[in-house]
Parts: sequence; structure tokens; C-alpha cells
Amino acid sequence: MEVLAPLRYGGHRGRVRFYSHINFSDFDYRGNNRTAFVVSPLDFSALSRLVGFSTMIRVGLHVSISGALDKAADRAKEIGCDTFQMFTRNPRGWKFKAMDSEQVAEFKKKVKAYGLSPVVSHMPYLPNLSCPKKLIYNKSLKTLRAELDRCAKLELPYLVTHLGSHLGKGPEIGLERLVNAVNSAMSESNGHVRLLLENTAGQKNSMGSSFEDIRRILEGVKWKDRVDVCFDTAHAFAAGYDIRTGDGVRDTLSKFDSVIGLERLKLLHLNDSKGELGSGRDRHEHIGLGYIGEKGFRALLKHEALRELPFIMETPIDERRDDMGNIKKVRELAL
Ligand code: ZN
Ligand code: MN
Ligand code: MN
Repeated sequence: MEVLAPLRYGGHRGRVRFYSHINFSDFDYRGNNRTAFVVSPLDFSALSRLVGFSTMIRVGLHVSISGALDKAADRAKEIGCDTFQMFTRNPRGWKFKAMDSEQVAEFKKKVKAYGLSPVVSHMPYLPNLSCPKKLIYNKSLKTLRAELDRCAKLELPYLVTHLGSHLGKGPEIGLERLVNAVNSAMSESNGHVRLLLENTAGQKNSMGSSFEDIRRILEGVKWKDRVDVCFDTAHAFAAGYDIRTGDGVRDTLSKFDSVIGLERLKLLHLNDSKGELGSGRDRHEHIGLGYIGEKGFRALLKHEALRELPFIMETPIDERRDDMGNIKKVRELAL
């Protein structure tokens, strides 16, 4: 295979042989000459654009920011991510420190140098944007505003948020709170960060576990071009969407399209589920080892409506598999 464009790694011109941690060694390019593709994980997405492989997808994980923000970019690169998700600060509290400009600059420099895209932020755990209690609601709204601001400074295109709980006061109250929070926060944000609403597993009192619920939220949002959707496969499955088979996946996505519109889908959270279909339990499992299974993920990864989107995992790390293992599994299932 001839690649004449300058590549960051290898430095060869003309006939270039690539190799990778991904098992591409027997990939038969154009059905004739067997070429080993040796790509650094970083160049994977760049190369895919260059030669236009239909088999290339953008895969990544939620990565820890432990130590410093730019360490997350280092970790993502080491694991072999094309894209990644992170928190911009400790997710377990309300309090946080402002980011200093050197830290921000170092982070942006590394993200660019490593070719990681998109980088996504996830809202911290405590905020409840549907909360009927004023104090928590106000703190939650303040957190959302701050996160949008931090994302803008870090030049992150997406902020993923959970939709909260109405705490038994009813979905109408929750919806009113949530729509208000989104409209209020977006009206003060500078316009470059898109907010992604994440579908939920359907736990008691939770908002947004069905496509219809998400549509209702989107209908109330004034900033239609800046609020979109993140689809979590484990949450959808736990909420009753059967994505275990090709038919199930096609069915679910066509429902998504008719209720919400696939153009609003910007990101996939790719997680298998420890809970059964419709269990309402939010417990993530390694790709293929849970109730969704490999067949379901293969169908998802091969669906033409999703292939251009980033796939980000929030999978466990244990004796069965680590982060690299899940990346490898997803790349294999996408072939
Ligand atoms: Zn989430
Ligand atoms: Mn998720
Ligand atoms: Mn979850």
C-alpha cells in the first residue's frame, strides 16, 4: 500500500508498512497484497482519514485526571484511545479549584499533539438538575454553569450530563426544573460547548430513560443547536431497549431516529450491562461479557448511522480485562 503523505511516525515515504497493537497483520487491502499496517494508536484516526477505511472507528474510554489534567491525555494516548472522556475536577464533591492557565495550556497542547478528538467532559456526580429542592437545584445549576465554562477554557466540544431525579415529586416537576436549568446555563455560556443529555437506566424517579422523555426535554430547550444527545448502551438496555441482536439494534436506532432524530446523536457511551433487559439497574460490564453481548456490540459498531461517531467506554478494570483489553475488543468487533 502506498502512502505518500508525511506521517508523524516512522518517517518513511513511498511504500510504507504499518504495524499496530491492533491485530491488523492479516488485513487484506483491496483483496490483493497482504500488508501489515503498523500504526501508532495516535495516527490511527489520521490514517483512517487519509486512506478512508470503512473499518476505522473512533474509540476511547473515560480516563482519570489523577495528578493533573494533562495526565489524562497521556493516559488516553498510552491506552490507545482516539477520543476520551474525563472529569475536569474531582467528581465526588461540590467544591473545586479554578484551573490555572499553565495547566490549561499544557492540557490543550498534549490533546493536539496526540491527535485525540473529540475530548469530552462528564458532569460531576452530585448535581441533580431535576431536583425539586431549591438548595440542591441551585447548587446543581451553578455546577453546570461552571462546567460549561471549564469546557470552553479547555476547548472541549461536549459536556455530558445526567438528567437527574425528581425525587418522587413527579416527572412533570422534574422536567420543568431540568429544562429551566439547561436554558439558564446555556444562555450564559459562550456558545462553543454542546451539552449532551445522557439517557438513563430507568432507576426509580430518574429522568430521561426513554427516547420520548428525552424528546420532551429537547422540546423545552431554547438552544436547539447546542443541546444534543449521548446514547449509553448499558443504560438503554437496562431501560428496556433490546440491543442484543442486529434486528434489535436496527429497531432501537430507528425508534431513536423517529422520536429524537439521529442527527441529534453526537456520542455513544459503549458499555455492556450487568443488569438484565429492563432491569433499571445501572451497572457497567466489559464489552461483550454482559447481557448485551458481542453480537449486540458488533451490530452497533457496524451500523452505518453510528460509525462516524465517537465510541467512549466507561467499563470496569478487573482481573478479567483492563482498558486496553476493551479497546482491543471493540476494534475487533468493528471489523
Ligand atoms: Zn454518564
Ligand atoms: Mn454513561
Ligand atoms: Mn452508568
